[in-house]
Amino acid sequence: MNIHEYQAKALLRDYGCPVSDGRIVLTANDAKTAAGELDGPLWVVKAQIHAGGRGKGSFKEHEAGEKGGVRLAKSVEEAADEANRMLGHTLVTHQTGPAGKQVNRIYIEDGSDITSEFYLALLVDRVTSRISIVCSTEGGMDIEEVAASTPEKILSFSIDPAVGYQGFHGRRVAFALGLEGKAVRQCSNLLGNLYRMFTDKDMEMLEINPLILTTEGEIKCLDCKAGFDSNALYRHPDIVGLRDETEEDPKELAASQHDLNYIALDGEIGCMVNGAGLAMATMDIIKLYGGEPANFLDVGGGATKEKVTEAFKIITSDDNVKGILVNIFGGIMRCDVIAEGVIAAVKEVGLQVPLVVRLEGTNVDLGKKIINESGLDVIAADNLSDGAEKIVKAVKG
Ligand code: GDP
Ligand code: MG
Repeated sequence: MNIHEYQAKALLRDYGCPVSDGRIVLTANDAKTAAGELDGPLWVVKAQIHAGGRGKGSFKEHEAGEKGGVRLAKSVEEAADEANRMLGHTLVTHQTGPAGKQVNRIYIEDGSDITSEFYLALLVDRVTSRISIVCSTEGGMDIEEVAASTPEKILSFSIDPAVGYQGFHGRRVAFALGLEGKAVRQCSNLLGNLYRMFTDKDMEMLEINPLILTTEGEIKCLDCKAGFDSNALYRHPDIVGLRDETEEDPKELAASQHDLNYIALDGEIGCMVNGAGLAMATMDIIKLYGGEPANFLDVGGGATKEKVTEAFKIITSDDNVKGILVNIFGGIMRCDVIAEGVIAAVKEVGLQVPLVVRLEGTNVDLGKKIINESGLDVIAADNLSDGAEKIVKAVKG
């Protein structure tokens, strides 16, 4: 789960990390009051969306060449005007996709005078099963670009969990960033605090880009992207409270509310499968026959008719879906429950696209009977390859 920059900065502040004073606002009226509470003489007005690259982004409603989602202002009035220009408008960045994201929240921050911009991140490295520190002197811009063209400018190392964070880790980063004097100790303290926050809150990713050196020689976190391990959220109600559902894919949101394992993809064949392994195999075999899956969906072992109905509704609500493949191996799951769920869903939402059903396992005969007697226009398949071949053929003609 991801959170907004302003929420991440509040957490950083709680953990003793240096951030600027700021206010979150939802309306242009509040923007003026909020900006007035900050010291000036420089204000930064920042669109809050769950995507990076805001500074280089552009608004759909604005003329080409106008500033993006991070703007500097020299007065309270100017800050309020900039907030007003952005609220309710759609910001497109290289991370939002062409549709962009509507800006509903604006963060107004005390502006900083910058000497240098650095990159700093903590992430879970799945290869070493450790927390990795990644840093670079080339902050503020696309780190992917730096990694691709000048990888020598990125330092990356992992922390042994048995020992945890040590001062030398922080000094290693400080020297790699070319810091001197009090900034070295500040950087080391910052890293210790970030590590504590990362492990306390079961984070997956914590990215400070840019981390800056101010003209006063202080270290400060100017931007923050924070991601949390969804499987550990049950023990962090404070983090769950930060969730902004308007930032999530509505289909994935509906799926999580019904406890379905669903991930939206770009293809045209909707899949309803039980078991993550079978779901992966189904996606593979669809590709083998020349199709593209529109989603990963595991309805789970103990799915009820209601859950199957919801799953089917989520699949059909996707306009990209040109055909549906139901592939169920009924072990714990019973084929008749799946059949009833599919029929209930079709009765409710209708069926505009071809549907191939492959059932095998517990109560398979009953399941097939229910579907045959329903009068639904279903293409029956005998096995996995047969099912994939039939749905790809039905979709591609
Ligand atoms: P992003 O584009 O979504 O990553 O948004 P950032 O928060 O990283 O801001 C983008 C850029 O705006 C930064 O790299 C800075 O160059 C600039 N910026 C952000 N805050 C300040 C500030 O307080 N003072 C100045 N001078 N520039 C800032
Ligand atoms: Mg940034």
